[in-house]
Amino acid sequence: MLEVLRRIVQEVAGARDLEQALAIIVKRVKQAMAADVCSVYLADYAQRRHVLMATDGLNPAAVGQVSLAMGEGVVSVVAEAAEPLNIGNAPDHPRYRFVAETGEEFYHGFLGVPIIHHRKVLGVLVVRQRERRKFAEDEVAFLVTMAAQLAGAIAHAEASGGISRMNGEGATRLDGSVIDGLAGAPGVGIGTAMVIYPPADLDAVPDRKVTDVDAEIIAFKTAVATVQGEIQTWGERLSVHLSAEEQALFDAYGLMLSSSSLVDKVIAHIRAGNWASGALRDTIHEHARVFEDMDEPYLRERAEDIRDLGRRVLVCLQSAGRRKKPPYPERTVLVGEEITATMLAEVPRERLVAVVSASGSRSSHVAILARAMGVPALVGAHDLPVGRMEGRALIVDGYRGRVYMNPSEAVRAEYTRLAREEAELMAGLQGLRDLPAETPDGTRLPLYVNSGLISDVSPSLENGAEGIGLYRTEFPFMIRDRFPGEQEQRRIYRQVLEAFAPRPVVLRTLDVGGDKPLSYFPIKEDNPFLGWRGIRITLDHPEIFLVQLRAMLRASAGLDNLRLLLPMVSQLAEVDEAKRLVERAYRELVDASEQIAKPLLGVMVEVPSAVYQAAAIAQRVDFLSIGSNDLTQYLLAVDRNNARVAALYDALHPAVLQAIQQVVDAAHAQGKPVGVCGEMAGDPVAAVALLGMGVDNLSMSVASLPRVKWVIRNFTQAQARALLATVLRCDGADAVRQHLEQALIAAGLGSLVRAGN
Ligand code: PEP
Ligand code: MG
Repeated sequence: MLEVLRRIVQEVAGARDLEQALAIIVKRVKQAMAADVCSVYLADYAQRRHVLMATDGLNPAAVGQVSLAMGEGVVSVVAEAAEPLNIGNAPDHPRYRFVAETGEEFYHGFLGVPIIHHRKVLGVLVVRQRERRKFAEDEVAFLVTMAAQLAGAIAHAEASGGISRMNGEGATRLDGSVIDGLAGAPGVGIGTAMVIYPPADLDAVPDRKVTDVDAEIIAFKTAVATVQGEIQTWGERLSVHLSAEEQALFDAYGLMLSSSSLVDKVIAHIRAGNWASGALRDTIHEHARVFEDMDEPYLRERAEDIRDLGRRVLVCLQSAGRRKKPPYPERTVLVGEEITATMLAEVPRERLVAVVSASGSRSSHVAILARAMGVPALVGAHDLPVGRMEGRALIVDGYRGRVYMNPSEAVRAEYTRLAREEAELMAGLQGLRDLPAETPDGTRLPLYVNSGLISDVSPSLENGAEGIGLYRTEFPFMIRDRFPGEQEQRRIYRQVLEAFAPRPVVLRTLDVGGDKPLSYFPIKEDNPFLGWRGIRITLDHPEIFLVQLRAMLRASAGLDNLRLLLPMVSQLAEVDEAKRLVERAYRELVDASEQIAKPLLGVMVEVPSAVYQAAAIAQRVDFLSIGSNDLTQYLLAVDRNNARVAALYDALHPAVLQAIQQVVDAAHAQGKPVGVCGEMAGDPVAAVALLGMGVDNLSMSVASLPRVKWVIRNFTQAQARALLATVLRCDGADAVRQHLEQALIAAGLGSLVRAGN
């Protein structure tokens, strides 16, 4: 059964659209359960109806035509109860409603299970049988499992405009649709989608319109010829090692590739207007599906061969310069399943107006980078129809975490106004540049910036940063193909220290592992966030740690503004060991007569154990810095990059606020300062709460700095303390946020929490 399930789910995942996905589901489920009918009803909440969207067994003409009002029929009973209904004779059920058009009068046994995605009933999967009998327990279990596994695929296809397309609305189906995700970086971006995708990944290839069909066909044929040539060469090269039978495999590969069904299909797709890569993707999926349907395991496995061939042809298409992206639109909205730092960096800054990523969360690195660059971003939009977005007009609302596709004139006009107001707000905030971050009752709260890129330096200075509160040294490590040497690192650190001197610069020691991999230092483990990361790696590799420490110390010669920060500390022994190594590096340099001042040493509090041992840690070092990104993740047990649980991830959770308060009190009791350098420091709403707690400084992305300064200059410490006392009594993060947002709105700072004034 498991194998049948796996095959159906795999096949559905490869479907081009909702229509095809549903057709596969009804056909395969009916077959697997030896039922007489299988149908899918999808809920249309706008019309308040359950619509028959696919059937194998009932009258096919009824698809899309027949629907039941919500509340009507046994299908509604399943949807309302969100539970399976298994009855021997459907017409006996008091809620049964006969629908003549479907031809269902022949069927008695009924089993319906709800299709539920993220707590929402999307529809009902139904099987029927002629006999008057209930379905067996294992049949119910099978259908429930099937529905649970298919829910995600259906939700995705539905969000991609599948239902409207099935109703014949054709190419305009995405127009006016709205996709929600998570607010990654504030602001409003209006522009044109440019889809970015990883190479050699057939599934990630987007649709793209072509104008020169002939050129596209030639490119495809050339790519096929190249791959055929490669296969032949490999076959010949290996002929001495292979049996005749194995050798035949290579011939079969060559034949598959030259088969007219495959080549002609791709060409037909190109003629229909898609580019060669998109046409190839569709054809390969269609062919692979034929093999997957076969009962013979040997033949079924050929599906993977087809995909492999497809990938090879794709690589040729891409490497023949065809992966060369069309020019970035004047106002580019970068769209992708997963957007990496390098993809962001490739877009000329003046053209980039927004970022939309199907994966990620508020604190994943794409969001952090977008905020650092001041670009509005939507992340974790898992229902994003990435493959069909290229070239579309988009509006990204980075406050609400929303993207509008081909929006109506009215929506566009409204957002154009909001974007203008936003620009005015930012220009107005520039006026605060040289004013101190000081509350009306005289509390100074220095604002630092988080950095990791040299390019951040001048915007940080321009925005009135009082120093660097967190320099993530892993970025220079991530963009190289080997560990940078001591001199190389010294140069990088020196640039930052020099640019900011005499203001303080906090250099954090290497914090890789978790979601920050180094290509040249691969770590494979089951739970990377609970694994070998941060200081755990550097203490295990003193040769790497000492090189970095020496580079940092040397870089500070004559400047004396260096502060060192240790990430991911969870044990006091780590602090002691790291202190010993810092002392050793420092002694070595002093003994070699280098003139270097001893830097202040700090520890990041980002693991729950460090919260409880904050006093003991504070005793050992000069300052603490709260990494609220990881602290939230570990306190709430919510992976900061997992879009599925992203709604649970919120640094304003009362438990997180209480933990931070505890750390602040513990540090102060030891006479040590404590700052916050996680993303919450740059959230104007959270900044009020942190002000109320008495933190000594905040460090944030440069783009957030003017906003937070505006908040600090408008709330007295006493007001913030009173607000904090109230929100600490709230039940959950939503209530905390609402309360603080209201306070900002009441203080006339509403434009910081939503677009517009
Ligand atoms: C944090 O965890 O809050 C932090 C600042 O570090 P990073 O986001 O680099 O893990
Ligand atoms: Mg961290």
